[in-house]
Amino acid sequence: MKLLPKSDRHVDVVVVGLGLSGLSAIRLLSGAGISIQGIDARARIGGKTQTIKSENGRSFEGGPEFVKPGHERMKSLMKEFGLKSTTLQRRGHKSVFRGGVRWTEHNDYIEPGIRCLRERFDQLKADFEKGALEDWVEGCSVGTWLGMHGVDTLHQDRFAQELVFELAGTDPFAVSMAAAVSYHASAGHSHNHQSARIVGGGSALATNLALGLEAHPVALDTIVHAVTRNYESVEIQTNNGVVTASFVVLAVSPTALKQIRFSPELPESRRRLISGWKQQASSKSFVVFERRWWVDAGLSGFAEGDTSNAVVMNASRDDEREGTLLLFANEAAGAPRFSQEAIKAGVLADLERYFQGLPYPVVDFATISWASDPFAGGCGSPLPSGYPVRSRLELARPIGNIFFAGTEVAEHGWGSMEGAVRAGEAAAEGILSIVRTDQRDSGLPSHS
Ligand SMILES: Cc1cc2nc3c(=O)[nH]c(=O)nc-3n(C[C@H](O)[C@H](O)[C@H](O)COP(=O)(O)OP(=O)(O)OC[C@H]3O[C@@H](n4cnc5c(N)ncnc54)[C@H](O)[C@@H]3O)c2cc1C
Repeated sequence: MKLLPKSDRHVDVVVVGLGLSGLSAIRLLSGAGISIQGIDARARIGGKTQTIKSENGRSFEGGPEFVKPGHERMKSLMKEFGLKSTTLQRRGHKSVFRGGVRWTEHNDYIEPGIRCLRERFDQLKADFEKGALEDWVEGCSVGTWLGMHGVDTLHQDRFAQELVFELAGTDPFAVSMAAAVSYHASAGHSHNHQSARIVGGGSALATNLALGLEAHPVALDTIVHAVTRNYESVEIQTNNGVVTASFVVLAVSPTALKQIRFSPELPESRRRLISGWKQQASSKSFVVFERRWWVDAGLSGFAEGDTSNAVVMNASRDDEREGTLLLFANEAAGAPRFSQEAIKAGVLADLERYFQGLPYPVVDFATISWASDPFAGGCGSPLPSGYPVRSRLELARPIGNIFFAGTEVAEHGWGSMEGAVRAGEAAAEGILSIVRTDQRDSGLPSHS
């Protein structure tokens, strides 16, 4: 797990960032008989996928684990790797806690104000799918759009959470409406959707994708800080030395790109896109109870509200007697790290608000906060408001022998595992088509 020896530090392709995107790029490049060096700043591969351990040794996915109906590439990879999925059990009423007031409503109930917003949103989605989204949507934030339909602020807030929470955006005014439309269009679900939950989480996918790494040198704990483009090669400077390559794939978020010095500088339009990019972070907590006490009360275990842990899901496994609730909290990227004890106290206080008391003892707890992670650059990646949807295509466009990947630059499924895989594969395809053309022109046999 290191950089190639000094005497041999030229490879065909360097892939920087070994999250799902970089791993997908390497997997595709691997079959083509070219030399590859993988690099990641962390001491592990997998990026935002991470198995976390609870206080009592249970394993949970601390990163991505849900796959949307429209995420076809994910579905085909799961089939290929034999990964199983489950769905969350939603029967019963959900709890809502807003403005200090708690109430319950059936999971299938849709309040008229929210129904109105859903219908108008679905119309925009249909326009987007037909390529007929009107120009004004590009310049509009989610927050502004929500105020345009005569719906009261309570239901605007609830719908904002439905739309934006998945994009891990805390502020609907900071997220582009066109981005929200394109995100939900590629997810391919209606509002009350059921996502498939991968057994083993995104980490199981990363482990399978990483099988392609075995044949290649991988340098971990290695931070790329400068990329210099020469006529026929590219030089990648890291804290562990320099490596040169014919091509580099930068499978990192735009936020991480801000930390890399380019020579010559990236074009002005690209620099502007990257410098204004903001990412939000979130935390995930799992609380295990002795039993599923909420079922006795006719509750589904789902909850939503304006507390810090804004979304609660019933993540209990069918084969266990215990009950597990999964909580998501949005945080500002770069926010200070709280102790596990402080996070646990906050989580239990929010559960008390949602459920008015917790009748059974907590038997286990796990949490992960991504806000203070130095290399995640946040979690979700909504296009900031004012960025046209086509900005993603601009971010993905190669510059000479530098290729860009990472979920943020995907045209379909951006912000999710689907987008990460697709963007990595698209960068690899781009390089392979050049390599194959060169091989053909030079009369060399093609390896693929
Ligand atoms: C809590 C959470 C829950 C989520 N839930 C879901 C979900 O249910 N479903 C879903 O589809 N998606 C979900 N996502 C989103 C999903 O995790 C990401 O879209 C996806 O994992 C991104 O993969 P990536 O390879 O593009 O980026 P990353 O995983 O961020 O990988 C980038 C890699 O680049 C490395 N790096 C950065 N800078 C440098 C540098 N200068 N030098 C070297 N290496 C560098 C980083 O260490 C990292 O390993 C979730 C994300 C989080 C955090």
